[in-house]
Amino acid sequence: MASRIKEPVITLSAGPVAAYPRVLRAMSRPVQYDFDPWFLQFYEDVTRKCATALRTVAPTLVLHIEPAPGIEAAAASLISPDDVVLNLASGVYGKGFGYWSARYHKEMVEIEVPFNEAIDPGQVAEAFRKRPDIKIVSVVHHDTPSGTLNPVREIGKIVREHDGLLIVDAVSSFAGMDIHPEDCFADIFITGPGKCLGGAPGLTLMAVSDRAWKHIEANPKAPFASVLSLKDWKNAWSKEEDFAFTPSVAEMNGLDGAIDQYLAEGPENVWRRHALTARACRAGIKAMGLELWAKTESIASPTCTAVRVPAGVNDDAILKAARAEFGVVFSSGRNETKGKLIRIGHMGPVAEPIYATVALTALGGALRKLGRKVDVAAGIEAAMQVIEAQ
Ligand SMILES: *Cc1c(COP(=O)(O)O)cnc(C)c1O
Repeated sequence: MASRIKEPVITLSAGPVAAYPRVLRAMSRPVQYDFDPWFLQFYEDVTRKCATALRTVAPTLVLHIEPAPGIEAAAASLISPDDVVLNLASGVYGKGFGYWSARYHKEMVEIEVPFNEAIDPGQVAEAFRKRPDIKIVSVVHHDTPSGTLNPVREIGKIVREHDGLLIVDAVSSFAGMDIHPEDCFADIFITGPGKCLGGAPGLTLMAVSDRAWKHIEANPKAPFASVLSLKDWKNAWSKEEDFAFTPSVAEMNGLDGAIDQYLAEGPENVWRRHALTARACRAGIKAMGLELWAKTESIASPTCTAVRVPAGVNDDAILKAARAEFGVVFSSGRNETKGKLIRIGHMGPVAEPIYATVALTALGGALRKLGRKVDVAAGIEAAMQVIEAQ
């Protein structure tokens, strides 16, 4: 049935993003019976391909839930009632992890910085000095509602030196830039197909270290026979093992297409176009007289550009005008960042420099529609210079 609302022309959201044609083709494959040998082999093959993309040895753990509940499952499974958790909050997702953690931990220490800044690894080292009993640390690599990055490699090194267990939410950075579980000493590394992989949003991909599995197995409260259980799915990758419940067959088809797309293009090539698109976009934003949300450009994400909403303008009015005048979809902020910024996604198929110029036109045009003076041509020219300098 057709919606009565006209479809967008171009979706430049912070995710879910428009899926690659290859993903859509894969999702049109038959929905197989999950006990059939064909599907059991296919499932194992896909999890091994995911491990190739994640650059890990063990086949990837797939949860048949979206990454947000997937992160909750990581908290529920890993955090035992004796654990002291260090939560690093530089944005909405980082802050949010603390609320999940509260259901499971003994105590939480939190480092919170303004949501346009990044966590300083020095603060993490300091926290361990003060509280050597910290066992689990959680960090978001790219806190999408702020469009900012945290230095997860440096943080991970400190956590490992103190024998802590690190959870890294890389949902909106993996496959859009150079980040993998082992680079950042992640014990649980969480991502999904719906952001930079250009797939559909229904699954969680997790790389879980042996250290983390040991901790989960020793956790008397780790859920089983539950949607929040990691244990239930630990061995499900193997064609010799049963599934805990029926996996999302159509989503697995889509994931297969997304991973094939990523590996066939070549990860380095994919990251390069994400970075270039974001750089062109940022140059254009500044040239149009608008302000980036990130306090310094060095922490601005290559997969999403957050732009401060100009004083006296309403964020929803901007989104509405961009959608109505140009058919272009942007994202607003979330929770604490709602109303303060507009987000331009550069994820998957739209991480192409031409879409930087599309975003500048639609954002500048929307602001003009709302009566603001914006030099769109200057923005496009600045973006062009970044693209041409390649
Ligand atoms: C999108 C996102 C999530 C959650 O993904 P859902 O698809 O909404 O479940 C979690 N963390 C970050 C950083 C994200 O960008």
